Parts: sequence; structure tokens; C-alpha cells
Amino acid sequence: MRAIRLSATGGPEVLDLVDLPDPEPGPGQILVRQSAIGVNYIDTYHRSGLYPLRLPSGLGMEGAGDVVAAGEGVERFAPGDRVAFASGPIGAYADLHLVDAGRAVRIPEGVDERTAAAALLKGMTAEFLLLRCRPVQPGEPVLIHAAAGGVGQIMVQWARALGAEVIATAGSPAKADRARALGAHHVILYGEQDVAAEVRRITGGAGVAAAYDSVGASTFEGTLGSLARRGTFVSFGNASGPPPAVEPGRLMRLGSLFFTRPTLGDYTATTAELDASAAAVFGRIAAGEISIEIGQTFPLSQTRAAHEALEARQTVGSTLLIP
Ligand code: NDP
Repeated sequence: MRAIRLSATGGPEVLDLVDLPDPEPGPGQILVRQSAIGVNYIDTYHRSGLYPLRLPSGLGMEGAGDVVAAGEGVERFAPGDRVAFASGPIGAYADLHLVDAGRAVRIPEGVDERTAAAALLKGMTAEFLLLRCRPVQPGEPVLIHAAAGGVGQIMVQWARALGAEVIATAGSPAKADRARALGAHHVILYGEQDVAAEVRRITGGAGVAAAYDSVGASTFEGTLGSLARRGTFVSFGNASGPPPAVEPGRLMRLGSLFFTRPTLGDYTATTAELDASAAAVFGRIAAGEISIEIGQTFPLSQTRAAHEALEARQTVGSTLLIP
């Protein structure tokens, strides 16, 4: 098989395409021949060392394809089934990948494999954030950063479908237009405008009930300053670097705020939770409430270029590698 490997952490240049023996599924595993691989920002954290990996390692958590072999004891899937997955073992940047059967989901009819690979991890993230971590209430204003990105596009559409007043941020006018087209009621250009001041203006001084911040370091103060009394800061990513530590007294002084730092793994920890979250994503897609934009695809051999584009903020929507 062909796979991306890294033996040191660093920039995209540490990613090499290598030939490896085809793996065989062990007990409880399935072997998936992938037709599309999802690129996620977390892959850059693994590559850079922000989230440590044991090296040498593969990279990537998400993909979709056909089951070609099932290990001992697997009853959930059989060869020929179309599946998608969005959690470890890390190493999805490959044409073949071993997955624990309990961590994969069946792709429903009517959803193609590229869409599944573009939607599953990012869609389940939107699902757990908006419905379980800090459930959005109809009519309340919420702030969603990086709204034209992979997770951001899905969150904007889903929050709007839930009846929220969506205040989005984006890094360029073109990305702002994209966020508006997807349903954002207001878009702030966070590279040029003062986010907290704009949010206060839009909300008549009140601030937002919840803010979903995946950008981290550069947006932290603006997000904090945008929250309404008893509002919730959901910090779920570090695209611009990790946010600073939070002093509890500050949360009090700014209006009895809540702060949480969730991760998808804790909201899809069981197979039942995984199935429910994936079903919610595919259900919204089938209902036409959420569209998945595959903004760019790269051949597996061009993985370095995919990472460069993602980190240079040149991507919109989801990014796929094609084996
Ligand atoms: P995106 O497609 O959203 O790409 C990241 C975007 O962040 C960029 O396009 C850019 O949009 C924005 N950004 C702002 N500042 C920077 C910067 N300095 N460098 C790079 N990008 C910047 O990626 P994903 O959809 O894959 O992931 C979005 C975020 O969600 C990531 O932070 C990821 O870690 C997080 N995440 C967290 C999960 C969890 O369980 N906690 C699960 C899944 C994702 P713009 O140009 O508009 O500013």
C-alpha cells in the first residue's frame, strides 16, 4: 500500500509518501480500501508536535471507502460494505487503512464516499458542539469563528437550522460571502474589525449566549469580550496557536461566564454515541439542511501541498486527499 509517514515532527516537509506491505485486519478490525481521505486541522497538530505522536507514525483520522476484509469477531461489517470513520488509529493518509469496526459507520445510500469523508469528522464536531456541549436555543445569538472552513461551514448551517442568530467570522471578504450564503446573519472580518465591539453592536450591547472558538490564540480576547452575562466560551481548536490559560476570577468579573474545552472523542466515546452523531450528520445532509463543500482535493502524493494550503488559510470548506 501507499501511505504517508513521518519520522520527525515539523512542517509539511516531514511528510513522505512510502510503500508499505498491505496490512491484515486483526480481531475486531476491518481493512478499508479508501476512495477519499479527510484532511483535518488536527492532522497539522499531530504533524507539528502540538499533539504528540509516537514516531515514526502515519497521519490522518478520517476516510471513506469499501471494506475489503474483516477480522475475527467482526459482525458489524462485511466485505463490500461502504464505511466512513473519523477516529484513530491515526494513519488514514493511505490507500488502505485498518479501522476498529466499532469506530466506523456505514455510509447511507445516496451519500457518495467523497462527501462522507468530507462530512463525518467535521459534521460530528458541529453536532456535539451545537446539540450536546452547549446546546443552541432558538433565537439566541451565537458566535462562530472561521465560518468558511470545514467545521465552520457546517456549524453555520446547523446553528441556523436550529434557529440561532448566527454571527460568523471569516478571514477574507470572499470567505465572508461564503458564510453569508450558508446562512450567517452577520459576518465579521476578524482580521480587520474588533470582534467584541462588532458583536456588542449587533446584539444591542448584550453579547452572545455562546461562542464557539476554534481559532485559539488570536481570537481568545475577542471571544471573551463578546459573551453575554452567563454566556459560554466553547474553546475547541488552536488554528492560530493554543489559547492562553483562563483565570477563574476573570470568568466571574466578565459576567459569571462558563468555559469548556471539549474534544470530539469524549462525545463519541462509545459506538452508540458515534452512530447517533453520524446519523444526525447524515440525516441533516439527506434533509438538505446542510450542504458539504469539498473546496479542494489533492492526490495523496501531494499531501504536503494540502497541509500548506490549510495552514496558509487558502482553503474553504473541506479538503480531501485522493489515494
Ligand atoms: P478549517 O477548514 O476551519 O481551517 C482552519 C481555518 O482557521 C482557516 O481556514 C482560517 O480561516 C482560520 N484561521 C484563523 N487564523 C488562522 C491561522 N493563524 N492559521 C491558520 N488558520 C487560521 O479547519 P477544520 O475545519 O479542519 O478545523 C477547524 C478547527 O476545529 C480547528 O481548530 C480544529 O482543530 C478544530 N476541531 C476541533 C475538534 C474538537 O474535537 N475539539 C474536532 C474537529 C476540529 P479564515 O481564513 O477565515 O480565518
